[in-house]
Amino acid sequence: NHQFHNATTNGSGKPRDKLLGGLLTEEFDEDSCLSRYQSSLYRKPSPYKPSKYLISKLRSYEKLHKRCGPGTKAYKKATENLGRHDGRYENYSSKSVGECRYIVWIAVYGLGNRILTLASVFLYALLTERVMLVDQRKDISDLFCEPFPGTSWLLPLDFPLTDQLDSFNKEDSRCYGTMLKNHAMNFTTIESIIPSYLCFYLIHDYEDHDKMFFCERDQSLIMQVPWLVFNTNLYFIPSLWLIPSFQTELSKLFPQKETVFHHLARYLIHPTNQVWGMITRSYNTYLSRADERLGIQVRVFSKPAGYFQHVMNQILACAQREKLLPEVFASEPQVIVTNTSRSPKLKAVLVTSLYPEYSEKLRSMYWEGPSSTGEMIQVYQPSQEMYQQTDKKLHDQKALAEIYLLSLMDYIVTSDSSTFGYVAQGLGGLKPWILYKPKNHTAPDPPCVRAVSMEPCFLRAPLYGCQAKKVKTTPFVKYCEDRITGLKLV
Ligand code: GDP
Repeated sequence: NHQFHNATTNGSGKPRDKLLGGLLTEEFDEDSCLSRYQSSLYRKPSPYKPSKYLISKLRSYEKLHKRCGPGTKAYKKATENLGRHDGRYENYSSKSVGECRYIVWIAVYGLGNRILTLASVFLYALLTERVMLVDQRKDISDLFCEPFPGTSWLLPLDFPLTDQLDSFNKEDSRCYGTMLKNHAMNFTTIESIIPSYLCFYLIHDYEDHDKMFFCERDQSLIMQVPWLVFNTNLYFIPSLWLIPSFQTELSKLFPQKETVFHHLARYLIHPTNQVWGMITRSYNTYLSRADERLGIQVRVFSKPAGYFQHVMNQILACAQREKLLPEVFASEPQVIVTNTSRSPKLKAVLVTSLYPEYSEKLRSMYWEGPSSTGEMIQVYQPSQEMYQQTDKKLHDQKALAEIYLLSLMDYIVTSDSSTFGYVAQGLGGLKPWILYKPKNHTAPDPPCVRAVSMEPCFLRAPLYGCQAKKVKTTPFVKYCEDRITGLKLV
């Protein structure tokens, strides 16, 4: 089963599909980012094919990004008048800004959150013909390769608004929701004063005014602003589908609705060579020889967090009930059946967690007693970081490596409401078993539920206002398994 040794096939005997069904462009040099074209050596081919329309849209986006990206005349022109008048807006005519319009993505919250918002903001850029540039002040370039050929997605450090990016918070007068609240922007004045830039606060504690972003009428206004800055930690794609003017285009791009993040993540997210080294060393050493691979992601949101017996019980209850892991016999079987013709099945279990105890207990359990199926269970946990240390380079690289490794498993069990798990399931094209949130320090019964789709959950979707009642009438948007007020595509 050493798929990775063969550069032309992926174990299935068919030639390997290094461009992922046309999702990726051939334009890149392979060595600068090994993961981009080597991922197909480690993954089974995805059963989900990108649509021709998505592929052509990506190729035109790449052209647009080359034409408008950092270092171009268009970029220079577009930044000239930006941010000279802090917080005030001048009259703007489309001529003075040039042909390109932009979106700036700001890096906030953990890595899972960040990958979900990169995908969300990128899709919004595709839909609105804007160019996406990413805030590089954190460790983004230590984690991800450039996704667009012949240009850069990194927002230049001398971008005029760089010093202000961290101040685009909830009450900031330059953010759309606050402007609406203060009546600083409305549909009658808009013709005369179009701001040169506008920020959006789409963080989990956002309010009704911020949620107006998801309204059709507001979109027609926002369209005219040359620069948009997104301060977000939410996977907001499900609600873009509920905006009528986007729905037709989205259906053409993604005829299979639940594949949105799957394709976008495989297009955008390519770990740097350093992270790829971590991924491939783990995989080749601990996972490649197994007959079956199970991933278990343990995220503990309670305070204090750490090891809890009820969480351990819940993981076992879920995995055993769903036949993902065998039971353990209390004592050695009376007759030892040695089957010489066939060696027992080797099952690798990848555990990802900030804490070491979950995998330690699991490993001991399958050592102390024999498994009921005769399977050999090998448990592996790459790191034990103990607490979240976002923006520390090596910590974030480990987190990315582990998310990616989870996505290479055959089955995964994930923790509720965790964006870390959402990214893994989407990249992998996997419908996870989601562990329900524990209540009162007890394991819930049932312990877990199979996800209806591999899509991430929009954990704080706008359910009222202009999008009220839309969920009821839209068959492909459902409430999430792990968050009754969240929305996901199915
Ligand atoms: P979420 O908080 O579960 O939605 O996921 P995020 O990825 O946004 O934030 C959690 C952060 O904590 C991660 O990015 C990591 O920095 C760290 N973390 C949480 N769980 C793990 C884990 O299993 N492995 C590693 N290496 N880091 C983790």
